[in-house]
Amino acid sequence: MTALTLLTYIAAALLLQVAAGMGVAFVRTRGQRIGRSEAPIERHAEQAAAVPTGAWSGWREFRVLRKVFEDRVRSQCSFYLGPVDGQPLAPFKPGQFLTFSLALAPQTAPAAKAAERPVAVVRCYSISDAPDPSAFRITVKRAQAPAQHPEWPAGLASGHLHDLVHEGDVLKVKAPAGQFFIDAEVDVPAVFVAGGIGITPMVSMLRWCIQAQPQRMLHLFYGVRHGGELAFKEALETLAQQNSRFHLHEVFSAPQPGDVRDMNMHHTGRVDVELLRATLPHGRHRFFVCGPPAMMSSLVPALGLWGVLPQDIHFEAFGPASVPPVAASAGNTQAMGVSTPSGNTFDIHLGRSGRTLQWTGQDANLLDFAERHSVAVDSGCRSGSCGSCETRVVSGLVTYPHQPDADMAPGHCLMCVGVPQSALELDL
Ligand SMILES: Cc1cc2nc3c(=O)[nH]c(=O)nc-3n(C[C@H](O)[C@H](O)[C@H](O)COP(=O)(O)OP(=O)(O)OC[C@H]3O[C@@H](n4cnc5c(N)ncnc54)[C@H](O)[C@@H]3O)c2cc1C
Repeated sequence: MTALTLLTYIAAALLLQVAAGMGVAFVRTRGQRIGRSEAPIERHAEQAAAVPTGAWSGWREFRVLRKVFEDRVRSQCSFYLGPVDGQPLAPFKPGQFLTFSLALAPQTAPAAKAAERPVAVVRCYSISDAPDPSAFRITVKRAQAPAQHPEWPAGLASGHLHDLVHEGDVLKVKAPAGQFFIDAEVDVPAVFVAGGIGITPMVSMLRWCIQAQPQRMLHLFYGVRHGGELAFKEALETLAQQNSRFHLHEVFSAPQPGDVRDMNMHHTGRVDVELLRATLPHGRHRFFVCGPPAMMSSLVPALGLWGVLPQDIHFEAFGPASVPPVAASAGNTQAMGVSTPSGNTFDIHLGRSGRTLQWTGQDANLLDFAERHSVAVDSGCRSGSCGSCETRVVSGLVTYPHQPDADMAPGHCLMCVGVPQSALELDL
């Protein structure tokens, strides 16, 4: 990083801090302070969601109205969901997600098999379309066992949704949530960078922008291995043909014969800063990034090193945090990374079970710590999104490497992303 770039970051960070102190409205992605909206965020929310209010707390039942595969290899399936109570849908900001509680059947889940009854798991899925008053759409990719461990079980929730949830079935869903959503600053071109299933929040943001921000320049870089894995291919290519302000770039890391046809739209390799630099027009852009861990951990820091301001980098990782704290040091002087000060050990007292355990900094978060000590904690997304592991902190201080998506009641913490900064007593 050049001295000039570093100074720019420091100046930007100071400005943001000063502005925050003055009560200026900011929106946040996970752990990153991002740009000030021209319009207050409340107005943005109204613009983003042209549907009647219908927010709810807790679980609400939704019926699967339609199930549609979105890619040639049938690994990504959309579910259209209508509320069973017939009441209006909640407004949402394009980019946000829904949280599901799924009752896994004994035939799919080892835990359910052992218990001989369905076992509930909680998972989050981004809304994959612009606001529609009649239904939400989510799109779920079947999670396979990792290539290096084919003996491990395949993804539980995604397998259940693909194989055992059918049209007419009812699912339990929490209201839209999340801090990764499109902004209202139409003068700054938006660059959506998606890897694989990270396309879902991008499609929602993109479709909304095309309707609500027709003057905004939009770029989508969509990385997959080959054309068979492209979801929403026809819809995206049609949008690009019909909207001169939307530029689509399909990027294939392992193209198959016939994949590379139009060199303006198709690229071979990975979505990296070199491709962005070679393709984007000169000037400021706002980046929205969502993809697999390898993309998140390389591209997000690289954008900072390229000189993109922290407030122009928004990202969301699906699942346990895959953006290391280096993302903060690479471009974000807002203290994003927190970890236990090295060498500190703390007593963690579990009030309900009467146990006192010692935190030595060996675990990434309190959930891993609890599980290593065989303490049962409800959990879902393991990334601060669903709120399942929310636990009351009787005393002590818990901090977060990234601002969690899930809201917490005062005096509570999220175990899956929380790190102690002092001795703790937890209501556990
Ligand atoms: C905010 C947010 C939005 C999201 N949006 C989407 C979306 O739009 N679409 C989407 O498809 N997903 C999305 N996700 C991811 C989704 O929530 C789930 O994490 C995903 O579907 C996998 O869940 P699963 O239960 O199928 O897999 P899991 O059962 O959780 O397994 C995950 C992986 O771990 C492997 N595994 C199994 N056993 C082990 C073991 N012992 N050790 C290590 N690994 C093991 C599995 O083979 C699998 O590959 C989102 C996540 C978040 C947090």
